[in-house]
Amino acid sequence: MSKVYTWDQLFSRRKFIKGAVATAAVGVGATTGLGLLTPASSLGKSNSAQTPAKDAKYVTTICEQCVWRCGVIAKVENGVIKKLEGNPNHPNNLGKLCPRGNAGIESMYSPDRIKFPLIRAGARGSGLWRKASWDEALSYTAEQMKKIKDKYGAKAMMFNSTDNLSQPFFENLLKAYGTPNYGTQRSLCFNAMTTGFLYTYGMPQPGTDYSHCKYMIFTGRNLAEGISNNETQEMIDMVAKGVKVVVLDPRFSKTASKAEWLPVRPGTDSAFFLAMIHVIIAEKLYDEAFVTKYTQGFEDLVTEVKDYTPEWAEKQCEITATTIQRIARDFAAAAPAAIAHPNWRTSNFQNSYQTERAIAVLNALIGNWAQPGGLIPDQELSTAKLGVLSHPPFPPAQGIRLDGVPWKYPMVPLAYGVIQTMRDNILSGKPYEAKGWLISRQNPVLSIPERQKTINALMKLDFVAVIDIQASDTAYYADVILPESYYLERYDGLIPIKNKIFIRQPVIEPLYDTKSSLMIYKELADKLGLGEFLPYKDEVDLLSQQLKPFPVSLEDLKRDGHYEVENLKEDHSKDFEFQTSSGKIEISSSIMAQMNKKAVPTWNEPPRPEKDHYYLLTGKTAQHTQMFTQNNRWLLEVFPVNRAWLHTSVATKLGVKTDDEVVVESEVGKITIKAYVTEGIRPDCIFMVGGFGHVSKGLKSAYGRGASDSALHKTITDPISGGSSLSETFVTVSKA
Ligand code: SF4
Repeated sequence: MSKVYTWDQLFSRRKFIKGAVATAAVGVGATTGLGLLTPASSLGKSNSAQTPAKDAKYVTTICEQCVWRCGVIAKVENGVIKKLEGNPNHPNNLGKLCPRGNAGIESMYSPDRIKFPLIRAGARGSGLWRKASWDEALSYTAEQMKKIKDKYGAKAMMFNSTDNLSQPFFENLLKAYGTPNYGTQRSLCFNAMTTGFLYTYGMPQPGTDYSHCKYMIFTGRNLAEGISNNETQEMIDMVAKGVKVVVLDPRFSKTASKAEWLPVRPGTDSAFFLAMIHVIIAEKLYDEAFVTKYTQGFEDLVTEVKDYTPEWAEKQCEITATTIQRIARDFAAAAPAAIAHPNWRTSNFQNSYQTERAIAVLNALIGNWAQPGGLIPDQELSTAKLGVLSHPPFPPAQGIRLDGVPWKYPMVPLAYGVIQTMRDNILSGKPYEAKGWLISRQNPVLSIPERQKTINALMKLDFVAVIDIQASDTAYYADVILPESYYLERYDGLIPIKNKIFIRQPVIEPLYDTKSSLMIYKELADKLGLGEFLPYKDEVDLLSQQLKPFPVSLEDLKRDGHYEVENLKEDHSKDFEFQTSSGKIEISSSIMAQMNKKAVPTWNEPPRPEKDHYYLLTGKTAQHTQMFTQNNRWLLEVFPVNRAWLHTSVATKLGVKTDDEVVVESEVGKITIKAYVTEGIRPDCIFMVGGFGHVSKGLKSAYGRGASDSALHKTITDPISGGSSLSETFVTVSKA
């Protein structure tokens, strides 16, 4: 009988420091009095002063501290990574790394890494585990998955993954297995934006030409803190050049501090944009030639916005009519070098789809499409240009999807899904019982609203397997944890960006008994008898096949970090062919008309909080990525914990000062959190940075630190986009 361990016994810090990886730990640096590791920069200095390394080398790779995929140059001395720098050849970061990217070393050398496969040895969630070999862990996983498929059909098994370079191969695995049930993070994030633009322009996410833009409106897009590296830099350059930037946000974010801040009432952004459209049409400020040639449905829009006057909008969004008029006129005057930004996670209300449609249409009215300083078609080198791995046709997926797409949500594209409904239907057992869940690099326990429901769903299943680098809150409730190598230790699939192909490659050999997800998927497929659907022997074989269409060797790509595709002509001839039913920008949406819904952007009144209740807002900080980095001790030095932002007037009424504890309570949960008292938020809102309040005891630095918004959020879904309407949760606040 194998020995059973608690998490602490498996991965105690003392054991880590004294153990086999002590060399690596020394490379990371000495612990400070706070038990925190010394930052990389000072380490680099002290170490190089002591012993100049003979074998210092530099390796280019791609960051994975968030999904932005910045280029990294890693400095390695004596087998230890000493410093990460931005790769100046990479368009996603132009030579710079954000705080999270710089702190990648800490996560890699963290004592909390999962160092070998684990199989649960006590009740689910009890934290009792036994060590397993890869063969045993993969065989056990495959056996359980086969059992579920044989007894209940492939549809009883759910697969979840988040955006990453090896995701296409995870998708091969789930398609080969034959389940229709695929969950991603998208419905918790950008479904409103992607569906809004898809059904207007025929593309989910057009680009933005910041460098020539003269007038920018952001709606809750907080680029200074929700960092998208090159875009954040471009936004800062715009500000430095004196470009007019307007930010609609109920909170005074760091981006708002660089702009004209409009503290809009939550959920009413579409009133603001509909009134802008009203002004632009009434005063004939739109680009008539563009509208006539490239759009359809303008006349219907004229009728729809007739009553959406700035005075009407002022009552809804609490931005004065004169401000709306001024911004509409100035925005149109700057056309076509003016952008109402598509934004990102705008899925905060059930009317967010309408907000995105209004934004999409506003851009079309001023004819900024494919113009300097406007919205631009996506001209990235498609992954389709990479060599294709040939495999047999996938079997047809069995059964309807558990997340309600398309039978409940007919307008949600299959690729996006509605993960919160998938979770709810595991619990309800309708339209059928789910039995198993394979989750790769995703943490549904902390990302989906109503955390306890997600834990209950995990507890209900017959089998749960998680692939991750650390013991996420979801991994803690798994039956098997398959430990992935850290991004600085592994390959992933190649990534084309603009006209270059980039490679993520191991900077050092894996420190522990871990594997790349590419090999985990492949070996699991082999054990399931589905290996032919992932047709590669190893990572090098896969990458070589992907690289086949290009005259460059893998060795050269590894040395240079990227390959520039020559003669890649930018084909602008198709820029004005929109992939919509009409082939035009659809001011009046064909698909909305087919669904018997209002086809032009319209106003849907959002709910308001009752007396003594507040809107609950969540967002990002520049020092953390969603719920992924709160165990990184370097980042905790600069952002140790989340707090609840309260307006000064609310705090005074409650008798609360900054750092006093407050109780925040919604219909579904209650948290205790420190207060941050500020004038920089509307008095009817409470804000907290998401991602804190971890429940996994395997994340020793993050466990119990701060509080999680997932404990408070209600599960409310926009029926059109499938987006989770997070800000329709209202809360009370009291002094703890
Ligand atoms: Fe890494 Fe920051 Fe770039 Fe994200 S934005 S990939 S964390 S450097």
